[in-house]
This record gives sequence, C-alpha cells and structure tokens, in this order.
Amino acid sequence: MKITMAHGSGGRSTSQLIDEIFRASSSNPVLDMMEDSAVVDGDTKIAVTTDSFVVTPLTFKGGDIGRLAVCGTVNDLLMRGAVPKYITTAYIIEEGADTGTLKLIAESLERTAKEAGVTVIAGDTKVIEGSGGVYINTTGVGFVKDGADIKSANCCEGDALIVSGTLGDHHAAILSERMNIENNIKSDCAPLCEMVQNMMSAGVRIHAMRDITRGGLGTVLCEFAKNAGCGFEIDEDKIPITPEVRGFCKILGLNVMHMGNEGKLLAVVSESDAQKALEIIRKSRYGENAAIVGRAVKGGDVTLITPLGGRRKVTELYGEGLPRIC
Ligand code: MG
Repeated sequence: MKITMAHGSGGRSTSQLIDEIFRASSSNPVLDMMEDSAVVDGDTKIAVTTDSFVVTPLTFKGGDIGRLAVCGTVNDLLMRGAVPKYITTAYIIEEGADTGTLKLIAESLERTAKEAGVTVIAGDTKVIEGSGGVYINTTGVGFVKDGADIKSANCCEGDALIVSGTLGDHHAAILSERMNIENNIKSDCAPLCEMVQNMMSAGVRIHAMRDITRGGLGTVLCEFAKNAGCGFEIDEDKIPITPEVRGFCKILGLNVMHMGNEGKLLAVVSESDAQKALEIIRKSRYGENAAIVGRAVKGGDVTLITPLGGRRKVTELYGEGLPRIC
C-alpha cells in the first residue's frame, strides 16, 4: 500500500495507518490508551505528548504555525487534566524559507507559550532540501493534579457533552486561504488553559476531554464510543457555528461534524455538573460560545439528531479531508 493524503486527514485512514504500522510495532499500556497525552508515574504524575505541525500556509487569519505548535501540544496536555509546564521545539526548515517569516513564527510561538504558561526548555533546528517549507515538532510536559483521572473510558450513559465554542473555524480559515476565498473567517487557534483549570479547580466531574482537531467532533465521538461503554447523541441545532462558517460549509458541501478546530474542546461531564461546567467555560477565555450539544447514551453508536427529529449515524471522517490544517 502507498501512502495517500487521506492518511493524514485524521479520519479512518489515519487510524488504519496508526493501527497497522505504528501500533503493530510499538504497543504498551500507555500508548494503547490512545489518549491525547500519556500520564505516567514519577514522583508526581506527569503528562507527555508530542505533535508535528505541517500546516500550509505558514501564517493565516487568526494564527500561524508557531502559535499552532504551542496550542496543539498544550491543549493535548490539558485534555488529561494536566497543568502544562514545559515544551520543546524542533524546527525542520526547507532551504529557501524566508528568515523574516521564521522570526515572526518564532516570536508568535514564544508569545503563545507565555500565554499558556509553558517554558520552552529545549529546541532543535534542521535544514533540508526543499522549497521554503517550515515544519515544527513540539513535545509538551505537564503535571497532573492528584486525583485527576480524565480519559475516554470514563464516559457513561447520561453524561452531558459540552463543546467550548463554535466549530469549524480553523478548518474553514485554512481552506479559505488555500483556495483564495475572501472572507472574515479566522482560525480559533488558542490555548485552553483557563477554561480547563477553572473547571478543575471548581471540582467539575469531568469524565473525558478532547480537543476537537483533525477529523472534527464526529471523529472524536466515534473514538470515545470505541473506548467507552456507551454511545452519543448530538442535537444538530445545538452545535455552535458562526453564520460565516455555516455559509462556507453550505457552499462547499462540508460537514461541520468533520471539520477541525485548534481552540475548541469537547468535555464529557457528569450530568449534574453540566450547567456549572457550561457557566465556567462561558466565563473563561475563548469559551464565550460554549454549549451543551448532546449526551452519552446506551449502546455504541454516535447519532446526530436533526432539527426535525431525524436520526443520522455519525461516522469518523473517511477520505482525504484536508490533511495539512495542523
Ligand atoms: Mg488532541
């Protein structure tokens, strides 16, 4: 089999690639959990994650690859209940890259690291043949608060599903840049520290969390359903979406359930804590448009309930999607 762009989409082809090549080669209890970051033992529990960023273009409305490289990694640490602390950066730079752009990216990365409360503690630079591309790998380390145990296997029937804001923004912003479509859609690229830390310090019973990146909410819920002993229902009319992104999706025939963000999370919380969690997220930075969009239900299916009461099965993203959005 040859690699196709679909293997980078974050959907079914990506999970096949991971299962057949990488998980088949490296398997251990930590990796096999397939969560956003690994929580391992030390003197205190630490969370570790690594991610590579290959987005094109390098700068876009609402962000750039430097900001993205911090947000993606910091958000993955947060999704396991960790407080992000340290980050490493490795730049792979193709010959021909512009040093002015590199400076802008490096400064944006540092600014975002400060915003997220993480320190860049190690870095590397490699230059390779090519045509001016820049890629960044970041590894993040965070400390897990005593007692925090946030993972998809914890989801249970009755839990509420909260998304922290409008969906599809990052995906639509990158696609607009790539297709030269003029509009006001901005990437939502942001570190979600404040909302997660506010929920945790208020004692919200968060069962699972995931940032809604490549593959979109649909793919996240399908992955959760595989790990948890329950299914999920989403009320289509509760999904927050800006009029611009809604219009954009309509014109291009895109499904917002499969569109990636870089500053939105899904929190699965105990039903009795749902209102409290929603209010906390709405009062936190980047969370003003949060909404309760559905619930965990019996079974193992993910279902979208349309405004007219129709039921549509949600699957993980299949096919190419837009691989290089992150
Ligand atoms: Mg993630």
